[in-house]
Amino acid sequence: MELWQQMIRDSVHSVDQLVEKFNLDRSVAENLDQFFQARINPYYLSLIRYPGDPIWKQCVPDKLELEDIDGFEDPLAEDQMSPVPNITHRYPDRCLFLVTSQCGMYCRFCTRKRKVGDSEKISMKQLESAFQYIEQHTEIRDVILSGGDPLMLTDYLLERILKRLRAITHVEIIRIGTKMPCVLPHRITPKLCDTIKKYHPIYINTHFNHPWEITEESMRACGMLVDAGCPVNNQSVLMKGVNDDPAVMKELLHKLLKMRVRPYYLFMADETKGAGHFRTSLEKGLEILDNLRGHTSGLAIPHFVIDVPGGGGKIPMLPKYILHRDESKIILRNYKNEHFIFHEPHLSETNENKKSNQPSITKLNNMEVKMNLEEIILDNN
Ligand SMILES: *Cc1c(COP(=O)(O)O)cnc(C)c1O
Ligand code: SF4
Repeated sequence: MELWQQMIRDSVHSVDQLVEKFNLDRSVAENLDQFFQARINPYYLSLIRYPGDPIWKQCVPDKLELEDIDGFEDPLAEDQMSPVPNITHRYPDRCLFLVTSQCGMYCRFCTRKRKVGDSEKISMKQLESAFQYIEQHTEIRDVILSGGDPLMLTDYLLERILKRLRAITHVEIIRIGTKMPCVLPHRITPKLCDTIKKYHPIYINTHFNHPWEITEESMRACGMLVDAGCPVNNQSVLMKGVNDDPAVMKELLHKLLKMRVRPYYLFMADETKGAGHFRTSLEKGLEILDNLRGHTSGLAIPHFVIDVPGGGGKIPMLPKYILHRDESKIILRNYKNEHFIFHEPHLSETNENKKSNQPSITKLNNMEVKMNLEEIILDNN
């Protein structure tokens, strides 16, 4: 067994461990199974400095999760846009390919917690239909391996997937979406890098949220991936109490650049059930961006986007895309000119749509938006 595999085995995950280690309310720990399991490996655990700190918040279950019933199970409508198991095909020229249910650590804010950690829901047995789908869809030039975390697979299994994808001539780019450089950098071994570099161009999209996650180990891991010829990009989620602070965010972005990782996206936290306590206002995000542009190099500045509920995709927070904004909601358009509502946290009215957990309802038809906008214009007069 490799070191990283042993560390997964040594993770904190049982009810007893959670109660003992974190003084967690037993009723919360016992209810986790029906909600979202915990896995905190010894490395990520060692990054916690004090109870309730930004590292703790990302990995230790909180009773607020069980109280949040307003969010969506599948905020991004990934399952509705899944033509075959394990594939989400939302954009014309690229698709998401889920290759495992497992992760090195289970993030409390995970958007995909309805599936992640459950090998029945992201099954390795169903990869064949996904490969065939990609083979048949010649418009797909970019495949994003995700999960779970693709680097939870053994080198052998990962190589089988890469080899099969590389045999498809229209697939130009393969991306690996992995949080391992952040949560378990020991996974990045010379043998893994040797495997990956045989299948270039391979891009790595990783996921750091806080400067304390950047350690000697994670710097070594990212350096190895870059040395193996992979461009490494970072996607962060803006989260209350974790990184919703201009100085913290700037420190994170600078530290990423120092280890040759390029900030790519900064996401507003999704309207995921059980993660409502992480959500910040759009204003907070805009303030953070305002503190970056001009004040630091463009290399350090990620695209600030909302991945809208209902499956509209990632929409940049630029005036062109924001049709309307008030204190409770934002109405946005995507690249196809479809319209979507994103609710501001707390102030959002808990309307019937949200209660029924059907994010598709937040996709409006254009007529509805027109009326909506007209009403607002009338209101303002
Ligand atoms: C994020 C995402 C992609 C990739 O989007 P990019 O903007 O190209 O990084 C592709 N498919 C799905 C379903 C996604 O959510
Ligand atoms: S690593 Fe990604 S998929 Fe896994 S729990 Fe965290 S956010 Fe979810």
